[in-house]
Amino acid sequence: MISKPEEVNTVLGQLIQALGASVLTDEASLVEARSDRSGKTSDSSPLCVVEARDTQDVVAVMKIANRSQTPVVVRGGGSGLAGGAIGSAGEIVLSLARMNKIIEISTENRWARVQSGVINQDLNLAAQELGLWFAPDPASRIWSTVGGNIATNAGGLLCAKYGVTREAVRQLTVVMADGEVLRLGHETVKGVTGFDLVGLLVGSEGTLGVITEAIVALKPIDTYPVWTLSASANNIEDAANAIQATIKHGYQPSVFELIDEPCSRYIAEFLEKTPASSGGNMLIAQTDGAGAEALAAQIAELWKSLGLQVQIEHDGEDLLSFRRAMLPALNAHGRVLIEDVAVPISQLGEMLLAIRRIEKEFGLEIPTVAHAGDGNLHPNFIYSEEEVPENIWNAADALFRSAMSLGGTLTGEHGVGLLKRQWLIDELGEAQWNLQWGIKKLFDPKNILNPGKVFDPTNLN
Ligand SMILES: Cc1cc2nc3c(=O)[nH]c(=O)nc-3n(C[C@H](O)[C@H](O)[C@H](O)COP(=O)(O)OP(=O)(O)OC[C@H]3O[C@@H](n4cnc5c(N)ncnc54)[C@H](O)[C@@H]3O)c2cc1C
Repeated sequence: MISKPEEVNTVLGQLIQALGASVLTDEASLVEARSDRSGKTSDSSPLCVVEARDTQDVVAVMKIANRSQTPVVVRGGGSGLAGGAIGSAGEIVLSLARMNKIIEISTENRWARVQSGVINQDLNLAAQELGLWFAPDPASRIWSTVGGNIATNAGGLLCAKYGVTREAVRQLTVVMADGEVLRLGHETVKGVTGFDLVGLLVGSEGTLGVITEAIVALKPIDTYPVWTLSASANNIEDAANAIQATIKHGYQPSVFELIDEPCSRYIAEFLEKTPASSGGNMLIAQTDGAGAEALAAQIAELWKSLGLQVQIEHDGEDLLSFRRAMLPALNAHGRVLIEDVAVPISQLGEMLLAIRRIEKEFGLEIPTVAHAGDGNLHPNFIYSEEEVPENIWNAADALFRSAMSLGGTLTGEHGVGLLKRQWLIDELGEAQWNLQWGIKKLFDPKNILNPGKVFDPTNLN
């Protein structure tokens, strides 16, 4: 606690006076706040970590930060892969992890009103008791917060059918840079008054405002068993053809994944097993709902007609666990840079071939998985150094450029953060970059919300 009156003049003193024991300056808290799961660590410790308990705590922090022009880095579960939640010298890391109350679940309205720090899986467990579920399902759902999912517009395996987080967000309570509290969006299913500011905040990576509460849509749980099928293709072109044919036929699996040959080899070695009818370039699809069995049979027929070896299973948990073992399997060989490009589904085959070309050009192996149903690829780089080596960044640069030239994007779901800000202008172009930077300045005139993340004005030279 502060003892001398002059200490109240410091930012830390003001924070402690307003928030007491919620302001942490111990070594362990500061060290934790210097990194997320991107592999990036800041080279200095932040000023402090503030553990907010409610919207009013966040207001108090933002008022002090605004007056003193102190940067604020908002942090949820710290599971981000873009370096967006990393704090460094002179910054306040504002953690919402303790704002983890599920305020209300309305079965009539099919939504949940939550504080932003609720863990994705905890919301799902609570909703399940009422026959409902929350569709966004990032593989990090046991650690990541609903606020973090919203701030990164997170995706997951079920995006193929149920869309990304944006589709599930109705209303947000946001604390602005100057401490003002706004309620954006609508509690209702429909609502078109004014601009879609919820859409703007979704994916804003802590640069426009602090999301403290949200109303998110829930779906009714259906009771039909899911069906899962897997197939193995000898080469990546055959796998890509099967993906495109499945979509072209109008088939809608709920999960639709590709694991390329190098990646399925790493996973099989790690788990010391290969699921039946897999190996090589693997496709996994899961169907759900009333027609799940018939749809699985139709997709299986199509894949067989394209020369793939196919296997259908009832629940397929084994297959999904195989897919989910991707990161630990690669981590068994070193650090991993998980890339995240997305292309139109019609260009998936081209992008997969580009990855093989980039492997040869840079002398690297790039084991890749893809959310085949939505065109989002995760090409991975394994390395042993402390930081990502230059050769890998050069190969990643070639990946980004290939994706963009195919009508795709730098990042499908992980965000820009620190890691990709230098490429943002290449994708947006100068005019749109300036427009977006103008929006950022309108929301945050003093540039105190996550400065240096997403936007790097030096790129304009
Ligand atoms: C093993 C693993 C698997 C993953 N799988 C997926 C996946 O399948 N799909 C996917 O999309 N991502 C995935 N991720 C990435 C990550 O989990 C997601 O980006 C997640 O949404 C981040 O949530 P978080 O609460 O951890 O946010 P953090 O990492 O704490 O923050 C992420 C960004 O959001 C901002 N932010 C956080 N909370 C708020 C808030 N309340 N208001 C304003 N800004 C905020 C931060 O400033 C930062 O820029 C994975 C990560 C790991 C480690």
